[in-house]
Amino acid sequence: MTLRTRLALGLVVIAFVLIVPLIVAHRSMQRLHSDITALRENEFQASLILGRLRDAIADVRAREVAVAVVKTDTVHVELQHALVRAGALADSLARFGVDSGAYRIGLDLDAIKPATDAEYLAVSTGEMDVADSLSQNTIAPALKAAERELAPVERALRARTEARVLHAEDGLTQAEQLSLLSLAVALAVAALVAFWLTRSISRPVRELEQGMRAVADGELQHTLHYDVNRRDEFGRLATSFVEMSRQLAELDKLKAEFVSIASHELKTPINVILGYLQLMQDGVYGPLTEQQVPIARTIQTQARTLARLAGQLLDVSRFEAGGGRIEPRAIRLSTMLDELEGTFHVLAVQRGVEFRVIRRIALLEEVLWDPERMNEVTGNLLSNAFKFTPAGGSVTLTAGPHEDGVCIEVRDSGAGIPAAQLPHVFEKFYQANNQKSASAKGTGLGLAIAKEIVEAHQGSISCESEVGVGTTFNILLPRVVRERRRTGPHHAAFAGGAS
Ligand code: ATP
Ligand code: MG
Repeated sequence: MTLRTRLALGLVVIAFVLIVPLIVAHRSMQRLHSDITALRENEFQASLILGRLRDAIADVRAREVAVAVVKTDTVHVELQHALVRAGALADSLARFGVDSGAYRIGLDLDAIKPATDAEYLAVSTGEMDVADSLSQNTIAPALKAAERELAPVERALRARTEARVLHAEDGLTQAEQLSLLSLAVALAVAALVAFWLTRSISRPVRELEQGMRAVADGELQHTLHYDVNRRDEFGRLATSFVEMSRQLAELDKLKAEFVSIASHELKTPINVILGYLQLMQDGVYGPLTEQQVPIARTIQTQARTLARLAGQLLDVSRFEAGGGRIEPRAIRLSTMLDELEGTFHVLAVQRGVEFRVIRRIALLEEVLWDPERMNEVTGNLLSNAFKFTPAGGSVTLTAGPHEDGVCIEVRDSGAGIPAAQLPHVFEKFYQANNQKSASAKGTGLGLAIAKEIVEAHQGSISCESEVGVGTTFNILLPRVVRERRRTGPHHAAFAGGAS
């Protein structure tokens, strides 16, 4: 599923689940509305009619009394109208079906009508006894009966109203609960969808970002931890990433191969030049003139520098082509120190520099390092120390314990390195501006190689220096180093240094 489809789908699902509580709430409101409408059109109307019916019956009673007193046609007609109105109200009330009492009130009122006509006739003819008898024995009891019927109707109406209100209240509570529940469910679903969306996007983005950083650090074998065959944009990005890493790795390999071959090919002609130079200096081709001697010496110095550079480049490229591989072997630290002492003793005497080797280790037992490589490192540091320390100065090599490992320190009382340049001394081809005549011999690769070898041993190297006081290099190494292939910073260092 493409990223766009997934986003669209996620948004649709979120929108849908958020609409559900709205629909539920809307339906509940509709039910409530119909309950209220029913209440207004039935119970409310019925109670209005009930009130009017009560008034109408009272009106009938008043006008019936008036017929006996006033004795006019108008009063009789008004009584008839009052009866008709009350009858109509009773009929209306009966239609609401609240209680059968409403129907009976209608019957009672219907029964009064002939009696009132007869009463009016008796009053008109002066038969007051007859009129009184009709009023008391027929009309008054019928009216009372009608009024009595009002009470159960009213009770039934109140009960029905209460039931309807209760029903509406129940509906409201239910709607409230249902809306809250559906809102909670909708929020949970929306959160899940949002989580799924962000996870499915953020994870590959994070992976790609880490991959890019790893490649930038030179770790070209870095693999992405998500399915690179997926059919979305991330799948395509991953394919490009893999292709990019592959091409970079190929370029890196080509570069290392090129440097390796070039430096190797350089060595042969340089050695030939040095050989012939030596023969010329030895007078094999006839004696050199006075003018030619210093020229031949300069050519020799430069050719040696070139040979050394070619050798170092070859060393670097081989080390890198092998992925910075080291081959740890068990060696006695004491043997290594003895050898170094022997090698540099001669140089110290030649230069008039005091050279001391301090063995702070009762521990001078075996360590598991790559002896050739570590010799190269300490040799480089000591060469530098002697190179930058004038006669009368001192160079000290100290080996001591450090936590679980070993600390090797090379200290000299030489020229020192300016603080601003100190951070760069481990970069390839970097030389501080503390060079004197010795500078002609250096290429600025020694410390860079040393750093790579130390790091391949899972150790660290650092430098402290003060101009005019001296320089101290510190190496911290574990005692036991497992053989491993370094691919990351090692390549990056080469690329950075060479550029
Ligand atoms: P190379 O070792 O490749 O022949 P180099 O000695 O100039 O050449 P590095 O060993 O890498 O190169 O050292 C880099 C620079 O650091 C040196 O050129 C020098 O300026 C400075 N440096 C290194 N060691 C010392 C030291 N002990 N005292 C003063 N400066 C030093
Ligand atoms: Mg050096």
